[in-house]
Amino acid sequence: MYCKYCGNDIGDAVFCPNCNKQSGYDVLLSDATHYDQVKKVDDVPNIFLIILAFFIPLFGFIYYFTQISKYKVKSRAYGISALVSVGVNVVVLVLMLLMII
Ligand SMILES: [Zn+2]
Repeated sequence: MYCKYCGNDIGDAVFCPNCNKQSGYDVLLSDATHYDQVKKVDDVPNIFLIILAFFIPLFGFIYYFTQISKYKVKSRAYGISALVSVGVNVVVLVLMLLMII
């Protein structure tokens, strides 16, 4: 690889030994792209965990609040599942109360 500031051949070094500027930008960028791809593959909601979040909403909420910064798609799916579960429970509870009255 060549330094983008002075054109010196710096091999795999991130900092150019000739002008001391950070020249490994292309390498870092490709690493970041690769990391994003790995992250995307890993950020797929698991159907069993969605069902688990539905039956144990607390799990869904805890997962959402602890993993939202890391896995946006997954944690959102589990959080929504937990919310739907709570909503269904409230409706069932109201219906039961209405039946009693
Ligand atoms: Zn240089």
